[in-house]
Amino acid sequence: MENKIIPYGKQNITEEDIEVVIETLKSDYLTQGPKIKEFEDNFAKYVNAKYAVALANGTAALHLCALALDVQPGDKVITTPITFAASANCIRYCGGEVVFGDIDPDTYLLDINSVRSLLEAAPKGTYKGIIPVDFAGRAVNLEEFKALAKEYDLWIIEDACHAPGGYFIDSKGEQQYCGNGQFAELAIFSFHPVKHIASGEGGMITTNNEELYKRLLKLRTHGIVKQDDLYTNSIEFAGGIESYPLWYMEMQALGYNYRITDFQAALGNNQLKRADSGLETRRSIASRYKQAFSGKSYVKGQSGVVDGHAYHLYILEVDDRLGLYNYLRTKNIFAQIHYIPCHLMPYYREFGWKEGDRVASETYYKHCISLPMYPTLPKEELDYVIEAIDEYYK
Ligand SMILES: *Cc1c(COP(=O)(O)O)cnc(C)c1O
Repeated sequence: MENKIIPYGKQNITEEDIEVVIETLKSDYLTQGPKIKEFEDNFAKYVNAKYAVALANGTAALHLCALALDVQPGDKVITTPITFAASANCIRYCGGEVVFGDIDPDTYLLDINSVRSLLEAAPKGTYKGIIPVDFAGRAVNLEEFKALAKEYDLWIIEDACHAPGGYFIDSKGEQQYCGNGQFAELAIFSFHPVKHIASGEGGMITTNNEELYKRLLKLRTHGIVKQDDLYTNSIEFAGGIESYPLWYMEMQALGYNYRITDFQAALGNNQLKRADSGLETRRSIASRYKQAFSGKSYVKGQSGVVDGHAYHLYILEVDDRLGLYNYLRTKNIFAQIHYIPCHLMPYYREFGWKEGDRVASETYYKHCISLPMYPTLPKEELDYVIEAIDEYYK
């Protein structure tokens, strides 16, 4: 075990995954073929949403969400500092202004009270939307966020990259799956290899809003439509007589090429079949960690084991985090830090953000460490990680 690196997250590729990719490579379509719709339909079903749009990656998904919701230069949008930078950057792509809330130190999620304070401190209409993140796999209570969003006429983009299959329990006691479109206008997922479902690079947007869905399809492919009843140029211009000629298409908006390929979609689709069993294993690893570290004096906080948590990450908050991190590296355990607060990245400091602006997030960053968490983590390695941490603090 001493020579093998244990990362914090890792993909799991089976022989069957390899077969479906090869099969797709041998088919007529490498891209723009049937595998994409198949993946979209199955994914939508998995998260209980009406529509899904597969994309090149999660960042492209965020960008298209911001475009579909018509984010304009100067528009203010609120997100959490404890997230991957892309959650915030999508607003900057459209020239909008990112305003960071703070986290709840118990859940590590965007604190709705910090969002409310921001909203109350500005004239109504100042903010356009909120991007809550199901950080570490813990589902944000979007029912509460939706009520607040309604009050201030805001949209919600749920960054659910960490939480396919995760859910929260709503006020009626119902399970509300991440990305199910009940509360957020749009939700996004990523299929980067460290995430639950891997397709190499890949992403997905889910929604229950048909109009947004159609807009996203158009934006994914250059803003081009190919459907007679949507054209605005005349049949005569197009070169037809009584109907549009078969070759005709129109570019109606400034879109992008954010497509996923068919072989990636085939891989993602096959991985999706194992999503539930993977989730179950993640939850049992979390229980083991929780039990091992409960009551340890060096632990200042740890991921709670709560209903619906999808455990993309298992996080401990510890004293002497640097010492532990370096010690674990010598044991070939590559723990990771999620995340360096986004508002203090040099890019965002340019907008005036400084230390002390978001205390809960900054305090969390001083102590957090993400432990190995993936379904194929062998039990002996899990024990080895737990022992190594205990050993360090002896
Ligand atoms: C991975 C991730 C993204 C971006 O996804 P990519 O597919 O890597 O572009 C966005 N937000 C969060 C929270 C993520 O973890």
